[in-house]
Amino acid sequence: MQIKANLNHIKSNIPSHVTLVAVSKTKPIPDLMEAYNAGQRIFGENKIQEMVEKHETMPKDINWHMIGHVQKNKVKYMAPFVRLIHAVDNFKLLEEINKQAQKHNRIIDCLFQIKIATEDSKFGMQKTEASKIIESKDFSALKNINIIGLMGMATFTDDEQQIKKEFTLLKNTFNELKPLKSFNFNPQIISMGMSGDYQLAIDCGSNMIRVGSSIFGSRNYSI
Ligand SMILES: *Cc1c(COP(=O)(O)O)cnc(C)c1O
Repeated sequence: MQIKANLNHIKSNIPSHVTLVAVSKTKPIPDLMEAYNAGQRIFGENKIQEMVEKHETMPKDINWHMIGHVQKNKVKYMAPFVRLIHAVDNFKLLEEINKQAQKHNRIIDCLFQIKIATEDSKFGMQKTEASKIIESKDFSALKNINIIGLMGMATFTDDEQQIKKEFTLLKNTFNELKPLKSFNFNPQIISMGMSGDYQLAIDCGSNMIRVGSSIFGSRNYSI
């Protein structure tokens, strides 16, 4: 019951133009089913193997989002069904997603991950790298991918001003890349904000939030 109550609480606190991705990584299927039975249809996972297993056993009207860092050699396992890949941060990965999407006669939606955090450990591209890709001839040859927006992860800190600065950087990056023209670049989504900062993210222009622990409770990585 708690999961349903948590979901309803979050949904009543976000505007209707904001999409809620329920981040279910490490959580068991009964927990996900509780969210499903409460109406949730978008789930985010950060490990491909775990997402594949959950996809196989759960109802087929779920939209699975890969929110974690993606290794090229594992793209093939999720290519048949993944709905959105949030963290694309290099051209080689994009080529592999395109190749695997083609095999399944699909066009796979992706987001470019932009590095907004000051920490070295966070993945992502600079704006100039993203614009170079979008304007390249090689990019326009990728018929089976569609870049529908940007994703970012803020620095892990309690400093709200710092987080706000980073979210604003992502929003500004979105606005600056938006005019670029390619048939497979159709930016509408800004994926930013997690349990601790989604209200701030929405205030800074997010329209897709990725919320885990505020729905499913804290994660235990030791089991
Ligand atoms: C785990 C994770 C989240 C959700 O984090 P919470 O703080 O539990 O809401 C969001 N985005 C990414 C990329 C994650 O890996």
